[in-house]
Formats: sequence, C-alpha cells, structure tokens
Amino acid sequence: MTAICVFCGSSMGYNDVYRKAALETALFFAEKNIELVYGGGDVGLMKILADTLLEKGSRVTGVIPGNLVDRGVVHHNLSRLIVVDSMADRKHKMAELSDGFVALPGGFGTLDELAEILTYNQLRISDKPLGILNVNNYFDGLLTFFDRAVEDGFVRKEHRDNLIVSENIGELLEKMASYEPVSMEKWITDIKTESNHR
Ligand code: AMP
Repeated sequence: MTAICVFCGSSMGYNDVYRKAALETALFFAEKNIELVYGGGDVGLMKILADTLLEKGSRVTGVIPGNLVDRGVVHHNLSRLIVVDSMADRKHKMAELSDGFVALPGGFGTLDELAEILTYNQLRISDKPLGILNVNNYFDGLLTFFDRAVEDGFVRKEHRDNLIVSENIGELLEKMASYEPVSMEKWITDIKTESNHR
C-alpha cells in the first residue's frame, strides 16, 4: 500500500471549492487504496480528508505534537495516532511514514511543511515527490514567487521543477510517480564557483 502525506489547511477556506477539493482527494485515495498520513487534526480541510477516508474504511495515520493534543484539535477516531514532542518531530515522522507529499490549500502551517520538503529534496535529504494541488489557482502567487527566485538566481531551475503542480489529484499523483531527483554535484560546484567571483 502507498502512503501519501497531505499538508492542508486547518481552516476550511471561504470558498466551497476547497472543501470539494479535499473531499475529491479523499475519495481518490480511498479508490486507489492509498493510506493518508497527515497532521492528525480534527479541523478544517484536514477533518474533511480524514473523516471521508475513515467513512470509506481507509487507513488514516495522524502525527501530532502533544501540545496540539492538549488544545483539543486532535482527531480521536484515526486508524493510528502518533503523538510527538514538537512540530519538527512531526514533520520528520510524517516524512518517514510516507512515499510522497501533496499540498492542498492552507495557510502558514501548510507553507512551512511544503517548503521544508522542497528544501529537503533540493539537498537530497529526501527523495520523495512533492505535488501541489493548485485548485482555484490558489498557489499561483507562490509559484510566481518561485519563478522570480529562479529568474533572480536564488533558486535553480531544476529545483523549482522538483515541484509538481496540477489542478487534478489523479493527474498530480500520476506526475509524482515519475519524479526523478536532481543530482547535487553540479549545483554545489556552481554555487562554489559563483561565490569565488564576488
Ligand atoms: P495551516 O495551513 O496554517 O492551517 O496549517 C495546517 C498544517 O499545519 C497542517 O498540514 C498540519 O500538519 C499543521 N497544523 C496546523 N494547525 C493544526 C491544528 N490545529 N491541528 C493539527 N495540525 C495543524
């Protein structure tokens, strides 16, 4: 069985299109027998994902720091709940348990999680594909920023291209299946050379 870690909003978002995207993602996972690994919350889009999958009899693993459990936002009916010490431990655990990552619309938490995986993939600490479900063009502003970072020489094009994007969950997972990590040697040589020409 494949396990995919989903990062997404602990809020619902104002537009129904976001709830619908979370629901469709869950239904797709259930149909393809994909295990959900996620932040273990019982709120926002996270709740829609987890509840829909549990209703379908699918396996859902939540990973949550103890302080969030104490605040009462934890989902109590998951197939498996792993309580960790910190947000950093949570990201680490979620990555360890998954074969890939999908980001749905969300806020700072989602951004933090997806940026960490982008960086890990760049440094080859992780070699697992990361996809963004760009429903309602929600991530367009972020993608424009990434393009600007490439244009201005702060992100390499091949690292920008590590990020897989689609509006459709089926297509996104299909693209993720052919993910090829980028070799690090040339990049390190290039940034060393560039740093010698101040
Ligand atoms: P945000 O995008 O700021 O709503 O944060 C959502 C992401 O951060 C999720 O993917 C979770 O892993 C984590 N997170 C943030 N807030 C919570 C919460 N109240 N309960 C569980 N996880 C949360």
